[in-house]
Amino acid sequence: MGLTYVSTRDKNNKATASEAILQGLAADGGLYVPEYIPKYANSWRSLCRKSYQEIAYEIMSLFLTDFSEEELKSCINRAYDSKFDDPSIAPVRKADSSFYIELFHGRTIAFKDMALSILPHLMTASARKNNVSNDIVILTATSGDTGKAALEGFAGVEQTRIVVFYPKNGVSAIQEKQMLTQKGDNTLVVGIHGNFDEAQTGVKKIFSDTALKEKMDKAGFSFSSANSINIGRLVPQIVYYVASYVRLLESEEIIDGELINVTVPTGNFGNILAAYYAKQMGLPIDKLICASNENKVLFDFFSTGIYNKNRKFVLTSSPSMDILVSSNLERLIYKIAGEDDTMDRDLMNKLVNEGEYEITTNMRSKLSDFYGNYASEEETLNTINRIFESDNYVLDPHTAVAACVYDKYRKETGDTKKTLIASTASPYKFTRSVMKAINRDDPSKSDIELTDTLYEVTGVDIPPAIQEIKEAPIRHDTQCDVEAMKSVVEDFLGI
Ligand SMILES: *Cc1c(COP(=O)(O)O)cnc(C)c1O
Repeated sequence: MGLTYVSTRDKNNKATASEAILQGLAADGGLYVPEYIPKYANSWRSLCRKSYQEIAYEIMSLFLTDFSEEELKSCINRAYDSKFDDPSIAPVRKADSSFYIELFHGRTIAFKDMALSILPHLMTASARKNNVSNDIVILTATSGDTGKAALEGFAGVEQTRIVVFYPKNGVSAIQEKQMLTQKGDNTLVVGIHGNFDEAQTGVKKIFSDTALKEKMDKAGFSFSSANSINIGRLVPQIVYYVASYVRLLESEEIIDGELINVTVPTGNFGNILAAYYAKQMGLPIDKLICASNENKVLFDFFSTGIYNKNRKFVLTSSPSMDILVSSNLERLIYKIAGEDDTMDRDLMNKLVNEGEYEITTNMRSKLSDFYGNYASEEETLNTINRIFESDNYVLDPHTAVAACVYDKYRKETGDTKKTLIASTASPYKFTRSVMKAINRDDPSKSDIELTDTLYEVTGVDIPPAIQEIKEAPIRHDTQCDVEAMKSVVEDFLGI
């Protein structure tokens, strides 16, 4: 029997894995969750000496049961190839008595590549499987990083097009250059005269335009979404927790069955949820340590049982975690509510209408797998400095938030279990903050120029992705007003 996915807001709304991947969000507004979490039947040791791609197949095939072996292996092999600048895809490094899983060896040197390099292939395979002959058109509004990772994932993938809208004056110079140099005839990058919210609202409006939908269908196109609630992004993220456990076994840092902790720098709650699913598969994980920056909604949630987004939004040096609504948390809420879809719907409605909700005592009692804490801006930079001085290992600010919170956890609890820390971005992506932290900032240099200084100081190779944007030609120059977003899409598709 295949694994079925159900919506968190209506259990009777069911889908196969491929249907859930094509739909993204369920029609009732809920998120698809697997009806149960499959267990891994063999010993973890049996995965030793298997490649990342082989481990990915072992794990993903348990979740994506309507994919044939050939289909899934083809998706995996096309995603995790020489696009990654390390053959082990997600290497594990030891520093500061922890183990860092480096999830930043893909095309945009940050962890979103882990999922977005495979999602396009899962989508086109899902389309074929469901007899969807239309080309898939991805629309994304981005405040910087996700847009580029999605562009890299979909670029050149047959039967797909991708349009990314970003606020013309609202992203960093490096982020803009990364997007404007994007290759691929099926890609379009558009700077809008407006802010991120306007870009996002514009995209939602296009998605819900039924007349446009009909027109597209006639011309052989359907919209889809690549955002982080898609089950096709979540499942590939379970793989690297298993793979890193296996690597620790191979290097005899742990023995089979030994419990470890996992610390994750968290924003939308996708990455840590994947670790939670890995634990439910039977991977020996003890605590899931949820690290927040100064936007500490999740820390407050774990401490009080109240999720409250009514607060000031803080801009930090870890921008990919500057989030007040962690959308993937809904999957955990559904689970701790005893898979009660009515309860889930009520709480999510409260979040929309009042900006907050409180979970029951019974639900709180099911959160003992988690520990939450946060790092201030100062603590984050101090952590980069401390670990650079002690271990000559350079963390980006997101990973430093996690390292700092793990340090707090260890001091608070005395728990000395081996701990994996998800390292979500290369320090080369955030050179300014990193150089400030290690007292080597030079205000006369641009962020790109600082990459050379970072190399001189640390000796860590400059990733090919950074080298490329220094030289790559600009390929996109489309700009538009918010009102014109729809016609830009129509022009691009020639309809
Ligand atoms: C997206 C992102 C995160 C947060 O991950 P979530 O799955 O949204 O919790 C952390 N660090 C970096 C660098 C990211 O890009």
